[in-house]
Amino acid sequence: ELQRLVTELLLSSKLETHHQVSDAVVPLIEMVGGLAQNQFTAYFQPIFSLKTGAIVQCEALARWVHPQRGLLAPGTFIDRLDQEGYLTLLTRRVAQASFDMMQRAKFSSEMRLSINLSRNQLEDAELLDWIHSQLLMRHLSPQQVVLEITENSAFANLGHTMTTLLRLRLRGFGLAIDDFGVGHTTMDMIKDLPMTELKFDMSLIKNIHREPRCQSIIDGMVRIAQELNLRMVAEGIDNLDDLNYLRQRYAGFDLNLQGFLLSKPVPADQLVLQMQQAPGLPS
Ligand code: C2E
Ligand code: MG
Ligand code: MG
Ligand code: MG
Repeated sequence: ELQRLVTELLLSSKLETHHQVSDAVVPLIEMVGGLAQNQFTAYFQPIFSLKTGAIVQCEALARWVHPQRGLLAPGTFIDRLDQEGYLTLLTRRVAQASFDMMQRAKFSSEMRLSINLSRNQLEDAELLDWIHSQLLMRHLSPQQVVLEITENSAFANLGHTMTTLLRLRLRGFGLAIDDFGVGHTTMDMIKDLPMTELKFDMSLIKNIHREPRCQSIIDGMVRIAQELNLRMVAEGIDNLDDLNYLRQRYAGFDLNLQGFLLSKPVPADQLVLQMQQAPGLPS
């Protein structure tokens, strides 16, 4: 038991020391200045296939590389930028950094990159067109890109949202419901939305190995995803017990895994390396 604790401690401190993010509260004017000075970029968190252990996808996560404050987490700036009308600028930076990375990593046509969009950005036709044209200019395909929309913010006023989602889907983009299981999507909406992927919220995955109620809920969500032919990602895999539980329970399933145990979000260079080294799942 002591040995296990020591190993866990070493592992977590090793993971924590690089790319530690801060949650400092920063004034808007400093954010806008930071945007103008190109201080924002994307980190990438790889997503692994449970079946093969291969990296099959990665998620772009915004980071502010602040010259004095260090690395700032999106929780400190996304909502504020969104409210004040500056999020488009940030999303363009994130998309650009992502597409650079895809080209450098020689992304295959099966490998996918996820980008997060806010509810408001689904109404931003100019941004969506820009993303599409950037991809085409670089000879990348919308088929390689998944747009993630957080469940609890996204699906109010479904009529208009539905039209936008259908248009994106027709262009070939993948569409994910992020943080699925803690928001407001009803089964009736899931049936009609043109989504391609469900991302099971971290709160249902964390400690799943010893939470029978979470196990039942995830079982149900996996059934639904399978029936509706949706890809699935379990977020927040941060310990070996949860990984082993999922491995046993969903052996042979097309379940993808994302979490600190497998890899933290890392800079583009490091992701490219990880993809070459093909680390696989820990055992
Ligand atoms: P999200 O899209 O659900 O992204 C996953 C978040 O969970 C990331 O936090 C990631 O670092 C964290 N995470 C991954 N694995 C684990 C784990 O095992 N344990 C724990 N405790 N956390 C884990 P991050 O990077 O701080 O991002 C937070 C949220 O900010 C994202 O949640 C997303 O909703 C939003 N966000 C990030 N980048 C963007 C962006 O470019 N645009 C928009 N609109 N939102 C963004
Ligand atoms: Mg996301
Ligand atoms: Mg999420
Ligand atoms: Mg989230």
